[in-house]
Amino acid sequence: MSPLTLTLSSYSRWLCRFKILHSQNALVAFSSTATTTTPPNENQTQSSGPAPPPIRVALTESAGRGVFATRKIRAGDTIHSAKPIVSHPSLSAIDTICYFCLKKMKPFTESQSQGVSFCCEKCKESSKVFYDVEKKADWVDFDDYCRTQGLKFPLLVKRLACMVISGAAPADIVDILQPASLTQRMILKMEEGFCLLRNAFTKANMGDERTYFLTKQWYTAVLARIRINAFRIDLAGGAYEDLLSLAAASIEAEAAVGNAIYMLPSFYNHDCDPNTHIIWIENADAKLKALRDIDEGEELRICYIDASVSCHARQSLLSQGFGFECNCLRCLSGD
Ligand SMILES: [Zn+2]
Ligand SMILES: [Zn+2]
Repeated sequence: MSPLTLTLSSYSRWLCRFKILHSQNALVAFSSTATTTTPPNENQTQSSGPAPPPIRVALTESAGRGVFATRKIRAGDTIHSAKPIVSHPSLSAIDTICYFCLKKMKPFTESQSQGVSFCCEKCKESSKVFYDVEKKADWVDFDDYCRTQGLKFPLLVKRLACMVISGAAPADIVDILQPASLTQRMILKMEEGFCLLRNAFTKANMGDERTYFLTKQWYTAVLARIRINAFRIDLAGGAYEDLLSLAAASIEAEAAVGNAIYMLPSFYNHDCDPNTHIIWIENADAKLKALRDIDEGEELRICYIDASVSCHARQSLLSQGFGFECNCLRCLSGD
């Protein structure tokens, strides 16, 4: 198991470390591995574990945080993998996708279909962190709102809210991620989703002591972070053979199986000619792969958008979707 396939409790330990460094304005360089944040007495077998991933998170000159190689990485290497903080399948594919890990399953016959399904006992067990709370409430109105308006991100907020209520995640788990700047109009548009989410819990008689965190500010702040940090998951599937054909397959895949947010992958900056690629083979576990040889100290960057479009189109996608102007070498050359 990779050191980055962390449990939620490990994520919150990370969070503590990130927060301390951030609050001291001392986020200069630190190891990204879980082992360094674990006291030695908790992890006596770590010397026999897998090697830590060859990366560190540090400040870049102009783009905030970034991820850097701590040694030479070869083209095609898996740099690390990452489990989502929270993920949710697309509503249109809910009958054929594991409700926890987003793995594709065989379509059900109508008599078998019970709304949601899990690919294995492990996923069913793992889903208890949100599903035990979720199934106590009626989601018809909330899901209808998402379906009719074509919204996918409120579903991630709903799942996160269930995780917080069940005690599986702290309410501030995504605070470390950079938020999108929202206009007053965007905030107003989010109000309906917030009211429907809040109502679903209220009608299910979940007391204020369990839903105290669920304010409009919390809903909006989480959505602002999901907006620029969520990954759309397209499963490459099948046999994993050639990295380049896999990269192409992942861009060409028609329908996303769902969306998810991750901790470490969110720290990767964008490049229109990236040296790193994020892929999903069979479920929501992300893999970060080197697209070419990378030197020690080099920043690892992924491409947030479809890189095949023109420079002008890329700039407009990045500024509208992510709020920045791209100054990568490809854009500077006008390609
Ligand atoms: Zn599963
Ligand atoms: Zn660019």
